[in-house]
Amino acid sequence: MTLIDGKSTSLQIQDEIKSLVEVRTKRGQKKPHLAAIIVGDNPASRAYVGHKIKACERVGFESTLIELSESVREEQLLSEVEALNNNDSIDGFIVQLPLPDHIDDQKVLEAVRPEKDVDGFHPVNAGNLSLGLPGFQPATPAGIMELLKRYKIETSGKHAVIIGRSAIVGTPMTLLLSRNANPGNCTVTLCHSRTQNLEEITRSADILIAAIGKPHFVTKSMIKPGAVIIDVGINRIPDASRKSGNRLTGDVDFEGAAEVAGSITPVPGGVGPMTIAMLLRNTLQAADQRA
Ligand code: NAD
Repeated sequence: MTLIDGKSTSLQIQDEIKSLVEVRTKRGQKKPHLAAIIVGDNPASRAYVGHKIKACERVGFESTLIELSESVREEQLLSEVEALNNNDSIDGFIVQLPLPDHIDDQKVLEAVRPEKDVDGFHPVNAGNLSLGLPGFQPATPAGIMELLKRYKIETSGKHAVIIGRSAIVGTPMTLLLSRNANPGNCTVTLCHSRTQNLEEITRSADILIAAIGKPHFVTKSMIKPGAVIIDVGINRIPDASRKSGNRLTGDVDFEGAAEVAGSITPVPGGVGPMTIAMLLRNTLQAADQRA
């Protein structure tokens, strides 16, 4: 069984990005600059944004964090987005999700200029992805593709099963894996909450991707021996042995799955760090496109 180490792969990509940033600065170009807007005090969101800002420092990017209160009005948030759109020193920016209930997420994501939409959530970037045109790819599916590539996992002609149809993971993952590319050329089945005979489908997967948000949902009996298991889930579960009283776990029962899988990503240390690496890569791309 191969452990697919997203943490070390992410650090390797960050080193590559750092070298490219050094080349840019030697040429007299400015450092790429990523901004993030965070609304409210959700501890998970704060932790994610913190990791992103720290990663910017590691690769030599500039970063700006804009913190808004939970009660911010939608129009005020939209005006912050517009200010970033018009700020020439910012190459790309993200609005950390989820947003409070009184704010229309979609309206905010659509306000981000597609050229600065390094999360790849704007309909223009989603449309480009679906047509196979250049644009910003959402970081989590892009990170999974990069893991498949770097671990030289054969995808052509394989059956990939994705559980979860979100716009940020499951749906774009389907598009990327079915493309005529390497990695790609998979036959893809997208499963969701209304899928019948789920276990029968997952047992035929050569590559199984879980993006559900339910701890240990995928068990050993759902896995074909030798399959590649990619666990996207990030779930916080109680753990009295930890100082915090909880720990992170994935959508896959790792111990059971590891007994039958050919390779598997851990949580933490799998897909999560790759998401950050791909956000940095998108930001460098945004900076290069503007230069
Ligand atoms: P989501 O929360 O928007 O939706 C969950 C999906 O799971 C839905 O499409 C639903 O149809 C499906 N689902 C729910 N119950 C199901 C069932 N019983 N059988 C089959 N399908 C079922 O999805 P999301 O935003 O993609 O998040 C999924 C998980 O991935 C969460 O744990 C999230 O925290 C995590 N996540 C991790 C990263 C990362 O960087 N590692 C990035 C994004 C999301």
